[in-house]
Amino acid sequence: MGPGPINAHPRVLRAMSAGLLGQYDPEFTAYMNETMALYRHVFKTTNRWTFLIDGSARAAIEAALVSLIEPGDPVVVVNFGRFGLLLREIAERCGAAVTMVDAEWGTVVEADAVRDAVRRVRPRVVATVHGDTSTTMAQPIHEIGRICVEHDALLYVDATATLSGMEVPVDAWRADIVTAGLQKCLAGPPGTAPITISERAAERIFSRRHVERGIAQGPGSPAGATGRRIASNYFDLAMLMEYWSERRLNHHTEATTMLYGARECARLVLEEGLEARIARHALVGRAMVAGLQAMGLRLFGDRAHKMANVVGVMIPDGIDGERVRTRMRTGFEIEIGTAFGPLAGRIWRIGTMGYNCRGHAALITLGALEAVLRSEGAEVRPGEAVQAAMQLLEAPAAR
Ligand SMILES: *Cc1c(COP(=O)(O)O)cnc(C)c1O
Repeated sequence: MGPGPINAHPRVLRAMSAGLLGQYDPEFTAYMNETMALYRHVFKTTNRWTFLIDGSARAAIEAALVSLIEPGDPVVVVNFGRFGLLLREIAERCGAAVTMVDAEWGTVVEADAVRDAVRRVRPRVVATVHGDTSTTMAQPIHEIGRICVEHDALLYVDATATLSGMEVPVDAWRADIVTAGLQKCLAGPPGTAPITISERAAERIFSRRHVERGIAQGPGSPAGATGRRIASNYFDLAMLMEYWSERRLNHHTEATTMLYGARECARLVLEEGLEARIARHALVGRAMVAGLQAMGLRLFGDRAHKMANVVGVMIPDGIDGERVRTRMRTGFEIEIGTAFGPLAGRIWRIGTMGYNCRGHAALITLGALEAVLRSEGAEVRPGEAVQAAMQLLEAPAAR
């Protein structure tokens, strides 16, 4: 019950035990095409280029940034937590001139601050996280999308922690590249990362690729071309798009088993219904919050911008947060999350995501946490938490 990875859905694990196929086997290429089509629905996009990057969520973040950014490019990073800092780190390695627009942890960035920065530095790329699990905050994206369109900047969004748990309307956001991972709301294991790429971004990436072809052809390649080449082979989105196109230009060996898993994750989302799944994450997340508050615990961060699927809980004074986590784990087989940086030792992070986003899992977690906290001598109101959560779960219409 942490902020991810979560328990994978059993159907996903079963799909991943299917026999391997060669990457040019027609049955397998049909699965590739089917996976692209499924994720277009999950991302709410018509983007042709919607596929998988082999690796954890960070692989897709890196593929997006290294393929969009040329050395010297101005880039604006919207930063409100640990994963905003990761965007800066990767953009800097790509040689970007990074301008940060920061918010204090536990809040989100104001659209006006982003607009000011974009007007000032005229970035090629604006990069932001949607839901940052490190602080449990969800950044509003619509207005940032408008700002990017108005100023001809490409918008990258890390939606790893929110895809299929909160609204991630890629086309309505007018986002150019959005990436995710399986191990949060999609109910799969880490290891492959869904990505979707707009035509505008694809054109930009393919135009860099042409320069590279010029170099490959030897002497006489365009002057100054070297600096513009995509610095990574594995994460070169131009090569990856050609690999996932009907041309199937050879690149890596697609991670067969992870593709089976990712395909099953998307099938589960669409069987349940994307909107129903988002509503489930909202309801169980609210039940968890209601229970924690009924217990008398304080929550971290701006409630108006809290992610649906994870909550930060202030560790009560005098309580050893790590001891509580260990006793939850050994006594109840329930893992809750620790925290990073300025929040280390101050909050726990409790997730209700994917397969773990179910009423009984929230109720059992609340009961276990109450028992451990009372045993540790914390002042919590006994008997209230599970009741409060049950009330919400059993009468969702009345909430
Ligand atoms: C969990 C999370 C990730 C995870 O990245 P991995 O490479 O899969 O570890 C990335 N971004 C955000 C916003 C996350 O919440």
